[in-house]
Amino acid sequence: MSTNGLPPYDPQNIFARILRGEIPCKRAHETTHSLAFHDINPLAPVHVLVIPKGAYVSSADFGATATPDEITDFWRAVAATAQLLGLEASGYRILANTGVDAGQEVPHFHMHIFGGRALGRMVP
Ligand code: 5GP
Repeated sequence: MSTNGLPPYDPQNIFARILRGEIPCKRAHETTHSLAFHDINPLAPVHVLVIPKGAYVSSADFGATATPDEITDFWRAVAATAQLLGLEASGYRILANTGVDAGQEVPHFHMHIFGGRALGRMVP
């Protein structure tokens, strides 16, 4: 499985440490297989990260190797988190930086949820 130019999964990455409770986070939502928490450096009035609890480097790794239960749980967690944070009515943006060319900093798959204001057109 390609890791999109990133090294193999590193269990010491910051999100793995958050999942183990070694580093605190501001939780937004939690399900059997997923955790949502507020980004430490928000780029919008609402900026939350949703991650699977399993060890997946990138969105491509997750899509190719996670179980159907994990994948279903993840997408439902994304939608539920947006709803819980009041983004449902006027919408939001989801984004997953995938690998080196996207500038993915944390090598544990995560989906950004941005919202709380008009976000404008997305540019690469
Ligand atoms: P990436 O560039 O990998 O898509 O995004 C990583 C995100 O993780 C960034 O938006 C960054 O602010 C966030 N982040 C990095 N370290 C921490 C942390 O320790 N706690 C939280 N809550 N977010 C973090």
